[in-house]
Amino acid sequence: MGRANVMDCTPGELRALVEGLAEPPYRARQLCGWLYARGARGFAEMTDLPQAFRRRLAAEAAIATLPIARRQQAADGTEKFLFTLPDGKQIESVLIPDERRLTACISTQAGCALDCAFCLTGVMGFRRNLRAWEIVGQIVALGASAAGRRITNIVLMGMGEPLANAGQTFRALEILLCPHGPAFPPRRVTLSTVGLVPEMKALAEAGFGVNLAVSLSAPTDELRDRLMPINRRYPLGELLRACRAYPLKSHQRLTFEYVMLDQVNDTLDLARALVKLVRGLRCKVNLIPLNPAPGLPFRPSPRPRIEAFQRILKAAGVMATIRESRGREIFAACGMLALKTGAGDCEPSALSSGALSRG
Ligand code: SF4
Repeated sequence: MGRANVMDCTPGELRALVEGLAEPPYRARQLCGWLYARGARGFAEMTDLPQAFRRRLAAEAAIATLPIARRQQAADGTEKFLFTLPDGKQIESVLIPDERRLTACISTQAGCALDCAFCLTGVMGFRRNLRAWEIVGQIVALGASAAGRRITNIVLMGMGEPLANAGQTFRALEILLCPHGPAFPPRRVTLSTVGLVPEMKALAEAGFGVNLAVSLSAPTDELRDRLMPINRRYPLGELLRACRAYPLKSHQRLTFEYVMLDQVNDTLDLARALVKLVRGLRCKVNLIPLNPAPGLPFRPSPRPRIEAFQRILKAAGVMATIRESRGREIFAACGMLALKTGAGDCEPSALSSGALSRG
């Protein structure tokens, strides 16, 4: 057995670890503070812990970090990070700054098995699930790279489907929300799913209180079956029932993401069908112009059609926004994460490690 990786421990597991080393439970809180608030990367740095405890920790535990393999910045300030995992697989994460927020978009899987037709990850396939520390490690590395700014929001929308890796994703959420650790408020964390219904229920029952975004992209089963194969397993009726059952606090609304595909899902009749589908739900529809990429058989809807689609939603009282593309030229925008640099090239590792996209 190797040494325990403290970055992979939930708060309860950290407590068990320190108690196993004959220390009182509050040492786990101190340890958390050092790891996340102060960014310690060695036990020797933790100077308010007793020396003997630090020595025992160093003998029995390790602090694993994710090395940044590449970092690119787009003209709009969006930054994309490539990480190499211990087994050589690679993943990407994105930091998206705006005036008030610094949002980290992180991955939960290397690749993705769900094969959505408008997504490069679907084209490139699944490699493996990330462990909790590899999910949290992206936040730690991005935070350390953020030049004095603090990450304010987290979106689990990077490579992969978070709920297809629910066990490790839930463990990562426990760590990220821990008040003695990274301490992200649940209202600033959004999990995006294509709609794995049993895991949506499990997420609701776990009571994290995070925001839920559902990638919808079609308001009829016939069309969604074609765009998102998961719909054949969990059709819209079942998905919408799970959405209605998701507990929302008074300040929260569900988000439905709708990737706008020219002449495919952008007609005004489909906008009206969408209105019917989400009627009565406290929600927002986020219209996302497709970021076109080689290998995807779609074009983005023209702006006037997206605006007309939005007008139908708004006129029916459905909150609807149009997402502005960020970091497109470095392949950091939604649906473009594919281990590419944006210069038309593709890292050799992309061919063996899979692609990523914000699901
Ligand atoms: S959109 Fe999300 S779930 Fe679908 S293939 Fe891409 S990463 Fe996977």
